[in-house]
Amino acid sequence: MNIILLGPPGCGKGTQGELLAQRTGILRVSTGDLLRQAVAGGTDLGKRAKVFMDQGLLVPDDVIIGLLGEVLASPRAAGGVIMDGFPRTVAQAEAVDRLLAARGRQVDRVLFFAVADEELLRRIEGRAAVEGRADDHPDAFRQRLVVYRKQTQP
Ligand code: AMP
Repeated sequence: MNIILLGPPGCGKGTQGELLAQRTGILRVSTGDLLRQAVAGGTDLGKRAKVFMDQGLLVPDDVIIGLLGEVLASPRAAGGVIMDGFPRTVAQAEAVDRLLAARGRQVDRVLFFAVADEELLRRIEGRAAVEGRADDHPDAFRQRLVVYRKQTQP
């Protein structure tokens, strides 16, 4: 089964996606986690992505679509995937349909997490204190919300 988790940054996709993965045994793929690993590892992908991530901007579609394509092609993804943080643009949404169709599969479920902005800001203050992510800094986080409304909501 292929499941997409959609919603604004800080809405709880990661937490619920993890619980869903544990309960179902389906592989959870967080593009944000994959990018943060690449940044920590100092890879070419990480270097390219960091500039965008630190500003709360989206990493270019070609990079992200390539990354997801690799995951979907791996044997670990044979039982389907829980997509957390992907797609985030219309082009990515079209790409996921294409990538799955090429394997005779489709998107089976989409879960949308509706959370008010004030609540998101409150939660993110807590996460910033615990995880110390640069993009959870209030200015970067506000930027991520603007990007979400403009590029992901459509
Ligand atoms: P997240 O952990 O899902 O909030 O992602 C953290 C950051 O990684 C985002 O603010 C983007 O800069 C980048 N990112 C993660 N997923 C995507 C995606 N699907 N498309 C573009 N950028 C992404």
